[in-house]
Amino acid sequence: MNLTKKIVVLGGAVAGVTTAIGLKKLGFDVSIIYKKRAFTAYEGFSQKTKEGFSLMGCKNSVKLLNIKSLRNSNWAGMQSKINYEYVVCRDDFDKALLEDAKEYKINLIKGRVLDQREVGNKIIIRYKSDKEEFIDADFIVDARGRFTPFKAEYYTGPKSFSLLQELEMPNAVQSKTSIDSIQDGWVWQAYVGKNKGYIQFSCDEQSANKISSFEDVKQYLKNEKIDLWSLRNCKIKGKIVKRDSYCKIHKTIISDKMILVGDSASSIDPLSGNGVFQALSMSSIAPYVINTILNKSLNKEIAKEFYKKRVNYIFNKFSKVGKEFYCMEKRFSSSFWTKRQSWPKLQKEEFKSVQIANYAVVKDNFIEPKEVVITENNPMGIYFLEDLEVVELVKYCLQNKTEKAIAFIDNFCKGLDEKKALMLRSWLLKEKIITI
Ligand SMILES: Cc1cc2nc3c(=O)[nH]c(=O)nc-3n(C[C@H](O)[C@H](O)[C@H](O)COP(=O)(O)OP(=O)(O)OC[C@H]3O[C@@H](n4cnc5c(N)ncnc54)[C@H](O)[C@@H]3O)c2cc1C
Repeated sequence: MNLTKKIVVLGGAVAGVTTAIGLKKLGFDVSIIYKKRAFTAYEGFSQKTKEGFSLMGCKNSVKLLNIKSLRNSNWAGMQSKINYEYVVCRDDFDKALLEDAKEYKINLIKGRVLDQREVGNKIIIRYKSDKEEFIDADFIVDARGRFTPFKAEYYTGPKSFSLLQELEMPNAVQSKTSIDSIQDGWVWQAYVGKNKGYIQFSCDEQSANKISSFEDVKQYLKNEKIDLWSLRNCKIKGKIVKRDSYCKIHKTIISDKMILVGDSASSIDPLSGNGVFQALSMSSIAPYVINTILNKSLNKEIAKEFYKKRVNYIFNKFSKVGKEFYCMEKRFSSSFWTKRQSWPKLQKEEFKSVQIANYAVVKDNFIEPKEVVITENNPMGIYFLEDLEVVELVKYCLQNKTEKAIAFIDNFCKGLDEKKALMLRSWLLKEKIITI
């Protein structure tokens, strides 16, 4: 059924490729129009992010996440070697992702998307490869990251920019990263092996406007009492790059013909270190949303609402994480810190009680209206706990006295292996669905 439906994905990085793979698995005719990213950037991915790529079947890209770098944090005057991250060069990672796409037999078109317009039931996309070309689609996925051309239509946080500099570090030995908070922003340094190093200074718009070379960055950093280990015996490689890095969310992220996925829908402050995970959270559900829009028009609006709510939830969650990090820093009172310590303005939402609500879930490759369990830790609702359908069980627990509820749970657990039963019982207790 889906073979005759053409979906064109604009942008071939994390969000674009993983959404395309999900769509291909559903049988759609999928093409990606991709172009090389405009600059070299290194980023750190978490273990959870690596697992996300594995789950999506991105074998070639996962292979690049093989070296764990120890992450040294010198934040708000406190030092810790908190955890590890996998540092990748995003150019290399994009290439590996396109290899993954090729293995799924996705049609790859090298070119720069210029614009698109609706003609009848179709969308015609204009792009430039060697010459100007056109391709038509039934639906498009915009995964052009922060470069997506809807800039005026965003809700944004305080404007931050990151200055990126590649380095050659011939004397470095062990892969590692560090993060330091300073008077006018924060600094991330990385050594990734093979003499390759990197430094990233994130600051506000005013400071960024004063910087046009790496010498300017050094001026900024020279009075800071931090260990600029990456700059010892290093050689500057290429020019400094300025990259916008503020939180933003698009006001219209989905329509009957188009969906925005990844940074093009919403992007978060790199401080929360989870941008790629955020993109995967969207691309893991987007194919089912599109499948519903194109094949189950009865549930189309529910699917769109489901996607909007999810994206908003993810954005709010990670913006809050970023704010919490900024709030930890009490030593500086510059506008960089005060602005970020007061954004976003959050209304404290008191969690009242566990409840069953009508919502929507992914089921059999579609978005369907369903009753879900809302708990303090699952504000978006939960239908499956791993592979266990828990709604009826929770309903029973909420409607009956503890003794009866426990007997019901015992019975429910009879068919489960010990580990799963323990996991279920712990969850019921943790979410205060039963109290003993
Ligand atoms: C300074 C900074 C540091 C960050 N550090 C981290 C980090 O350490 N860890 C982390 O998880 N996240 C980090 N992030 C966030 C992360 O970069 C993004 O969340 C992630 O890249 C989103 O993926 P995406 O596929 O949506 O967009 P992108 O990775 O931006 O990909 C968009 C793709 O679309 C292509 N494209 C753009 N325009 C066109 C066009 N007209 N035609 C065709 N193709 C086009 C681009 O070339 C690119 O390949 C950081 C972000 C910033 C700004």
